[in-house]
Amino acid sequence: MTKTTLTQIISDPSCMDDYDPNAMSVTQARAFIQQFLTPVIETEQADVMHSLGRVLSADIVSPSNVPNYDNSAMDGYAFQFADADKSLKVIGTAYAGRPFDEEVNAGECVKIMTGAMLPKGVDTVVMQERVNQTNGKITLNDSKISQGANIRLAGEDLQLDQTVLAKGHLMRPADIGLVASLGIGTVNVYRQLKVAFFSTGDELIGVGKPLKSGQIYDSNRYTLFGMLSRLGVAIQDLGVVPDDPALLESTLLKAANENDVVITSGGVSVGEADYMKTLLIKHGQVLFWKINMKPGRPLAYGKIGTDEENNVRATHYFGLPGNPVSAMVTFYQFVREALIILMGSMPKPLPLFKVECTEPIKKATGRTEFQRGILYLTEGGSWKVKPLPNQGSGVLSSMSAANCFIVLDDMTGNCNSGELVEVQLLEGLI
Ligand code: AMP
Ligand code: MG
Repeated sequence: MTKTTLTQIISDPSCMDDYDPNAMSVTQARAFIQQFLTPVIETEQADVMHSLGRVLSADIVSPSNVPNYDNSAMDGYAFQFADADKSLKVIGTAYAGRPFDEEVNAGECVKIMTGAMLPKGVDTVVMQERVNQTNGKITLNDSKISQGANIRLAGEDLQLDQTVLAKGHLMRPADIGLVASLGIGTVNVYRQLKVAFFSTGDELIGVGKPLKSGQIYDSNRYTLFGMLSRLGVAIQDLGVVPDDPALLESTLLKAANENDVVITSGGVSVGEADYMKTLLIKHGQVLFWKINMKPGRPLAYGKIGTDEENNVRATHYFGLPGNPVSAMVTFYQFVREALIILMGSMPKPLPLFKVECTEPIKKATGRTEFQRGILYLTEGGSWKVKPLPNQGSGVLSSMSAANCFIVLDDMTGNCNSGELVEVQLLEGLI
């Protein structure tokens, strides 16, 4: 795909191959969004303990070998391999953190604990269960032992000057421990991405207030807050905004001024009082799509305050459908990945794997469906997936009951019970 600007697309959609706002495939929409994403560049330092979910802005290079010295992987006895068939005199003990400082000579051995530094003169450790001990001497009861057995060599985990984690890496629990294992207490990271959201709709009311006739409680802000919290971005919750042009405008502008990304839900579907659309056309460059997917057809993406020619900072905008399941599915399939890129990292493709489906599924070809399912372990020890009965795009209870999406791509039609289908774990979505 050649580099295109949003302005070009809006003024001349034919400049993009396959660009049809009324029939974008999931893959096309993903690729389309990605070309407009400009990651944050400002950096700061973070305490390693608090760097979970942050993105590294510089490589982490190992200042030492890990482990720093050869040490024992077992509780046992350290000796010279050439002595393996002899009776060996135990001349001392090496503990983790309390080395045995003398040299070990031929015919001698040292009792050694896991993690203890290997004394001079030895090259092999035998497990304590594999020796016979009498009168301060041992004989090996391990005919298969090889030279260097049960030893962790210096640098085996990490080597001096090795790039341990690369710029752009998104920090996970093992990573923060790994960095700590190098003795590094602070890391260089990109600043947190600032994301604002609000819900739109006259019918919406916040929790804690009694429902009047025709009203529903706003749930999208809660699911959005949950999904954004897992991504570790800085969140600004701008509440519920009724379908009132002036209020929508002031909230949108505030959100765009103070954040890198604005997410709204509701008001992007056809037949809506088109306030959002009018507003976004006035203040930015936004495209409205009907994506070939279910649920989650309507989606808007663009920039607010865009001035590509003059390189003025623009805020990214995502307009999600109002239906609670559609809002979640579009977030997971488009927004999550885009936010990870904006945070300075590269999202890895989410694993999809095939399992047997326990029920038939009715589906038309030509669009991608994300059905909610329960992946479970059968008594026979294999994993199967059961689609949840109510797949309505407003049925949040089935989203809550689900632990996976059953992903049926546009080529797939009806599925029979027992057929293999692709699943995507919800828990993998951060
Ligand atoms: P819309 O996209 O605004 O046409 O809304 C589609 C459906 O989603 C309607 O039934 C709305 O009432 C519902 N909806 C919109 N926003 C929310 C929200 N924040 N929480 C719960 N339901 C919503
Ligand atoms: Mg609405």
